[in-house]
Amino acid sequence: MNALTGQVVLITGASSGIGEATAKKLAAAGARVGLAARRADRLHALHAEIEQQGGQAVVLEMDVADKASVDAGVRKLLDTYGRIDVAFNNAGLMPLSSVDEFKTDEWDRMVDVNIKGVLNVSAAVLPQMIEQHSGHIINTSSVAGRKVFGQGFAVYSATKFAVSAFTEGLRMEVGHKHNIRVTSIQPGATATELTQHTTSEEYVQMIAGFSGQLQFLSPEDIADTVLFAVSAPRNVNIAELFVMPTNQV
Ligand code: NDP
Repeated sequence: MNALTGQVVLITGASSGIGEATAKKLAAAGARVGLAARRADRLHALHAEIEQQGGQAVVLEMDVADKASVDAGVRKLLDTYGRIDVAFNNAGLMPLSSVDEFKTDEWDRMVDVNIKGVLNVSAAVLPQMIEQHSGHIINTSSVAGRKVFGQGFAVYSATKFAVSAFTEGLRMEVGHKHNIRVTSIQPGATATELTQHTTSEEYVQMIAGFSGQLQFLSPEDIADTVLFAVSAPRNVNIAELFVMPTNQV
């Protein structure tokens, strides 16, 4: 039997990067995986790949910023598998810009997805986990949720600080009361599509500069840490995972 046989895992942002790598890794470890994101074509391709490897998954077309869409996706997951053991709140975006560029649409989008998306999914899965008296919520903060890098990161960092704060507060509330584990993952620079959201030319150049200096983590490196957290014995809650490239300061 594999480490996660029978466990049902919801992963938001499963259509690329960290979410996609984690979906493959957990499915290979025996989990039944709910693949949530907006790009359905990507999710169907991933679904086919997981099934071809002998794994189990279901496609959940979902916009985490839209509460009704989240509720419908979670309902479909429950109709399919009947329980939820882990929810990995991983969907996010990082369009960098200076505050005085006033890209307020991008600020709103980050608040809606990075913060409200985590709240929407948490609200949708917690009633089931409370009923089960077991569960595990993993929220993706960032190194930028621990320190503000400086120019360009003000709003993105603010959203990730919010995720870190909510995650720690949630852990304190639902651990002893409902036997639900809560983990904050704080990755450093990881090679994904995340940097492609930036429209501000200054920061497109800055990101290109980072790529030359840093040996980025792979999405699989973060997937390994998620597997580590979910595989811990039930009485062990890995509350924080701060994972950095060795040469990132
Ligand atoms: P990607 O851009 O590769 O993945 C982001 C995922 O989020 C995509 O699957 C995208 O799917 C999904 N997403 C975006 N908006 C929505 C939405 N409204 N509803 C549902 N899904 C959505 O980047 P990463 O894999 O790097 O990002 C994953 C997480 O890791 C993010 O929270 C990011 O902030 C965090 N992180 C990343 C780091 C890095 O260096 N890469 C470092 C620290 C943290 P779709 O567009 O199909 O909806």
